[in-house]
Amino acid sequence: MTPASSSNADIIVVGTGIAGLAAALALARQGVRVGLLGPRAPLPAPEAGRFDPRVYALSPASRQLLAELGIWDALPAERITGVRAMEVFGDRPAWGNRPARLGLSAWQAGSDYLAWIVESRELERVLRQAVQWSGIRWTTEEFTALGHGPELTGVTLRTSGGQALHARLAVAADGAESRLRAAAGLPANRSDYGATGVVVHLTSELPHQECACQWFTPDGVLALLPMPDTDGGPQVSMVWSMPRAQADTLLGLPEAERVAALEARLALATQGRLGALRVRSPLHGFPLVLQHSPQLTHGGVILVGDAAHVVHPLAGQGLNLGLGDVQALAQVLGGREPFRPVDDPRLLRRYERARAEPLLAMRVVTDGLFHLFGAQPAPVAWLRNAGLDLVDRMPLLKRMLVNGASGA
Ligand SMILES: Cc1cc2nc3c(=O)[nH]c(=O)nc-3n(C[C@H](O)[C@H](O)[C@H](O)COP(=O)(O)OP(=O)(O)OC[C@H]3O[C@@H](n4cnc5c(N)ncnc54)[C@H](O)[C@@H]3O)c2cc1C
Repeated sequence: MTPASSSNADIIVVGTGIAGLAAALALARQGVRVGLLGPRAPLPAPEAGRFDPRVYALSPASRQLLAELGIWDALPAERITGVRAMEVFGDRPAWGNRPARLGLSAWQAGSDYLAWIVESRELERVLRQAVQWSGIRWTTEEFTALGHGPELTGVTLRTSGGQALHARLAVAADGAESRLRAAAGLPANRSDYGATGVVVHLTSELPHQECACQWFTPDGVLALLPMPDTDGGPQVSMVWSMPRAQADTLLGLPEAERVAALEARLALATQGRLGALRVRSPLHGFPLVLQHSPQLTHGGVILVGDAAHVVHPLAGQGLNLGLGDVQALAQVLGGREPFRPVDDPRLLRRYERARAEPLLAMRVVTDGLFHLFGAQPAPVAWLRNAGLDLVDRMPLLKRMLVNGASGA
């Protein structure tokens, strides 16, 4: 049987997560004819007082992109929390008895907020609505295989429903396990951190005051992100990157024991910074890996989002990097000379060049911090904590860090 075929798009975006939806919208805004290929699983309706376990700290650059796409103002403002300050605690004192501490605040960068905490589900909901209104054709099937287009131009994407979709270029936004990346023969270097990101929402005894807190503990990196207050009190979202064996033990406990064990560990790690912390939602675990593709384009396929790179969540930058890819791709293709088609190799190289530095920088910083705070020898431990304290006393360096942390 000959598969049904369609070829009315210049670019087909494969993957319908946040990077894929944003890429389709951003490219359509640049006048490119775009199609979208990927599943559309139903999203649960928003409910007051109930929050998606997956939240992102979005940088000012991501917010700007979403605003340009008309997404930001459509998000429910009452479910978003701005981050005005950040406190980072070391794993032991450098001098005296006080744990090493670094404080960063938005005013040091001359802005109101360093980042905004947004639920994944709400972001996806608004992006989907915008895709629908923009008239982008969405094929709600999975990509299965890659071939050449008719007369060997462009690409043909085979789908789980038996269709063959033709386009000049395919954007792989199908996540860390990208099937399209593999089909294009693009390698991905992967190393496992041997750690799991445990996420849960907590009720805190003390108000968070729009401050994100992070602890480098002997049990991994713990982050508490400010969330909207609930009837039960102030709320924070936890991401604790724990050694996998510890996470497996914790997640494997019967519910009451799991909650008690986590609350006790939180009390120890946070030393009362937010008062008592109580679990208010189910726990989830995500395996943590470092992955990057040394080449972002080949054979009519270009990578964005987690299909191109996965970083440790300790800097909360994975999706921000993906949205940075989207912004760069839309800029390169939108600004192309009129005689160049969207799959012109020079354009694809421009995109690769534009992303090389930010991707390398984020990989080095997140991986470096993970290993620096994972190291146990006493001199290294003293140095990293002394480093935090020292930076805290250097206003100029702090200002640079704030700009880096907020992606400004
Ligand atoms: C614990 C944790 C905390 C994090 N916190 C933050 C944070 O605070 N800030 C931040 O910026 N980032 C954060 N991240 C990173 C962030 O979650 C990811 O970078 C982001 O979700 C990746 O989005 P994506 O759209 O590229 O990929 P995905 O979300 O994986 O989407 C891929 C899409 O492709 C679809 N797909 C898969 N296979 C196919 C196929 N064969 N055909 C068609 N479609 C397919 C899937 O259905 C899915 O819709 C965190 C990550 C973890 C693990």
